[in-house]
Amino acid sequence: MKVQGLELTEIAQEYGTPLYVYDGEKISTQIQNLKKGFAKAPLKIKYATKALTNVSILKLMRSQGVGVDAVSIEEVKLCMMAGYPANEIMYTPNCVGFSEIQEAVELGAMINLDNLVMLREFGKTYGDKIPVAIRINPHIMAGGNSKISVGHIHSKFGISIHQQEEIMEVVNEFSIQVNGLHVHTGSDILDAAVFLRGAQVLFDMAMNFPNLKFLDFGGGFKVAYKPDDVQTDIFKVGEEVSEAFNAFCEKYGRQLELWLEPGKYLVSEAGYLLVEANVVKETPEITFVGVNSGLNHLIRPMLYDAYHQVENISARPSSALKKYNIVGYICETDTLAADRMLPEVNSGDILAIKNAGAYSFSMASNYNSRVKPAEVLIWNGEAALVRKREVFEDLLRNQVVLDF
Ligand SMILES: *Cc1c(COP(=O)(O)O)cnc(C)c1O
Repeated sequence: MKVQGLELTEIAQEYGTPLYVYDGEKISTQIQNLKKGFAKAPLKIKYATKALTNVSILKLMRSQGVGVDAVSIEEVKLCMMAGYPANEIMYTPNCVGFSEIQEAVELGAMINLDNLVMLREFGKTYGDKIPVAIRINPHIMAGGNSKISVGHIHSKFGISIHQQEEIMEVVNEFSIQVNGLHVHTGSDILDAAVFLRGAQVLFDMAMNFPNLKFLDFGGGFKVAYKPDDVQTDIFKVGEEVSEAFNAFCEKYGRQLELWLEPGKYLVSEAGYLLVEANVVKETPEITFVGVNSGLNHLIRPMLYDAYHQVENISARPSSALKKYNIVGYICETDTLAADRMLPEVNSGDILAIKNAGAYSFSMASNYNSRVKPAEVLIWNGEAALVRKREVFEDLLRNQVVLDF
């Protein structure tokens, strides 16, 4: 299998496995698709950095004219390391303490608040001096599964649309300058109608805020996980949301910016986790391929029941198809992929696990005292190391070892 003309097996050989490989061109294509889809609106893309926070990826995003959305002060700082001016970084925290919000203000980031307690604290501290955006919970059930649906009535995210009066009270009491309204309803959303419903909630609310600069419709676009999988029709969503947005701006009396915060959409399909088959283990029921990675490096299958397509990229063309469960080496059930027909796998073969760009390395851990993989970015037909593989010493780095 090739990425930008480079054989992934050769990259695996050069850098070793397990290895994360990212296709920068695919990221660029996704950015272009979003821009085309929303061509009729004044679109600003704020990449949700939590999906993949490697600083070289952030720099690539910046070179493509994409802004960023950070959910922690550490992500804000990583974006600044990547060259983003602080005032282009949207900081959208959830349940952080006020001191972290203050730190983000001091760095100069844009602030997006999602609860009334912090909004009040913000008003008390900054009055009308520092503008702020407000994250609304629109109470829309959307998204691929319960763990990634965040805009419903029981979700901890956003300020409820039913608390509109309280929002207005706080805003008026402290003359808070609200410069944006935000919704993010979840991930793996297919339907243009869901985005339109979220948009409508913001349109209704926006009439209360005369100083808006933007409306932010969040992320959540679904990508393909299988060859013929359904994915969000970005052109249809773009067309419909842009049209509704422009009609709203006319009513509002001023052209606002339309913001999106895609994470998965920009980087999911760009990523491959390359692993090596350590052992092919026959049991009476199932043939397991045990690989040199696991839920420590890719937790999505176990955490979200996520489907990741797997290819045997070392397979000989004549190999017969067989059925396998691909599992990790972690001492805990860590099925990466179940019931997959693959060309016969032999130990030493390299498997490519697809859709490993988003929420993959960024959710990796050192569980079982394993080191994290290296990361390679392919750009302009050339592969470059963008993170070294951890070494044993990294596991000890912050330990304080007592004598007994
Ligand atoms: C995670 C997140 C996103 C991105 O979601 P995707 O499903 O990856 O597009 C966007 N906005 C906020 C506030 C988020 O927390």
